[in-house]
Amino acid sequence: MVVEPKVKGFICTTAHPKGCEESVRRQIEYIKKKPQVEGAKKVLVIGSSTGYGLASRIAVTYGYGADTIGVAFEREAKGKRTATAGYYNTQAFEKIATEDGYFAKSFNGDGFSKEMKEEVITCIKENFGQVDMIVYSMAAPRRTLADGTTVSSVLKTVGEPFTNRTIDLRTNEIKEVTVPVATEEEIEATIQVMGGEDWYDWIKTLTDAGVVKENAITLAYSYIGPKVTHPIYKEGSIGQAKKHLYDTSVKMNQDFANLGLKAYISVNKALVTQSSSAIPIVPLYISLLYRVMKEAGLHEGCIEQMHRLFLEKLPGDVETDEKGRIRLDDYEMRPEIQDRIAEIWDNVDTESIGKLGDIEEYWSEFYHMFGFGYDNIDYTEDVEI
Ligand code: NAD
Repeated sequence: MVVEPKVKGFICTTAHPKGCEESVRRQIEYIKKKPQVEGAKKVLVIGSSTGYGLASRIAVTYGYGADTIGVAFEREAKGKRTATAGYYNTQAFEKIATEDGYFAKSFNGDGFSKEMKEEVITCIKENFGQVDMIVYSMAAPRRTLADGTTVSSVLKTVGEPFTNRTIDLRTNEIKEVTVPVATEEEIEATIQVMGGEDWYDWIKTLTDAGVVKENAITLAYSYIGPKVTHPIYKEGSIGQAKKHLYDTSVKMNQDFANLGLKAYISVNKALVTQSSSAIPIVPLYISLLYRVMKEAGLHEGCIEQMHRLFLEKLPGDVETDEKGRIRLDDYEMRPEIQDRIAEIWDNVDTESIGKLGDIEEYWSEFYHMFGFGYDNIDYTEDVEI
C-alpha cells in the first residue's frame, strides 16, 4: 500500500513504516558516532516508542552498550489503517538493536496497569536478573486506575483564563487563543495521569520484586520553560502534575535510600513530539525557539538532548541545579535566547511567522515523527503496513 500523511490538527493519523525505520536509524547513527561511556547495562524504558523515551532507549543502547526492555502503548495496523509511528519505531529499533547484538524486548500495552508491571518483572527476572536504570518517559492523555475508573489529563490554566498568541497548525495562522481554567477535579486527574504516582508504583513494584540493582538510577522528564508559557505549562494543570513528579523524586530518594537508588528529574528542552504538539501556545513558542537556537548554533532535537543527558550529564558526578534537577534546558533558557524570543513574540504575525519563526523546521520534525519527509525514502512505493 502507498502510505501518505493524513494530518488532522496536531496529529497525523497515518505513519510510514520505512520512514519510521529511517528515523530510528538516523538517531542510532547519531549516537554511534559518539564515544561510548561507562553507564547502566540493563535498562527499562517506560514510554519507549517515540519522543524522549525512544531517544533515551537509543542513547543507552548505543552510548552505554546497554540491553533494554521497553514499554509503550501503540496501535497495530488493521486493514488499511497503518500502525502508529511508535509501533513501527519499536519494531525498527528491536530489529536493528538485535542485529547489532543487543537484547531489546518491547511490551505493547497499558503501562499504568498492574498486569504490565508483572509482565515486565517476569521478563527482567528471565533475562536480566536485575535492572540498573529505569527511565520513565510516559506521556499519556488518560489513565485507567486500579478500580477501573478512567481519568483524563487536561492542558488548562490554574486560577484565571489565559489569552495569548498561538499558531493554528492547520493554516500556519497566528491567532489569539484563550485557554480555560481547569477545575479542581481536572487538576487532580491531570496529576493522576502525568504526576509521579505511577512512576512511584513502578519503582515500588520493581524493588519489592527484587529486580532493581543496588545504586540504580531512575529518571523522569519535566519542562519549565519561559514566562510566556508559564500560565499554560509551569503554572497550568500540567505544571501541577510536574510539581508532583518532582516531589515524587524527592520521596523516592528517601524511601529507597537503603537500596542506594537515585531518582532524578531531567528538565528537558521544548521540542516537537506528539505530546507537545497538543499544547496550545507551545507550538508557536517552539517555532520561534527553533529559529533563535539555530541562529545561535544551539539547536537540538530529542536525540541530541538524550545524548547530553546520558553521555555527558549523568556519568561521574551528576550535574544538577540547586533542587537536584538535571537541566537539559540550559541552552534554551540562556538569557540571550529568551530575550530574543520575547522581542519577536510581541511582533510576530501570520505574515512574518515564516521569517521570524522556523515553521519549516517545525513541520519537517512533525512529519519526521510519523516517518514522512525523508529524502531517501520513495513514498510512491508500495509498503507492507
Ligand atoms: P511522546 O508522546 O513522544 O511519548 C510518550 C510515550 O508514552 C510513548 O512511548 C507512548 O507509547 C507512551 N505511552 C502513552 N500512554 C501509555 C500507556 N498508557 N502505557 C504505556 N506507555 C504509554 O512524549 P514526549 O514528549 O517524549 O514526552 C515524554 C516525557 O518528556 C513526558 O514526561 C513529557 O512531559 C516530557 N517532556 C517533553 C517535552 C517536549 O517538549 N516534548 C519537554 C520536556 C519534557
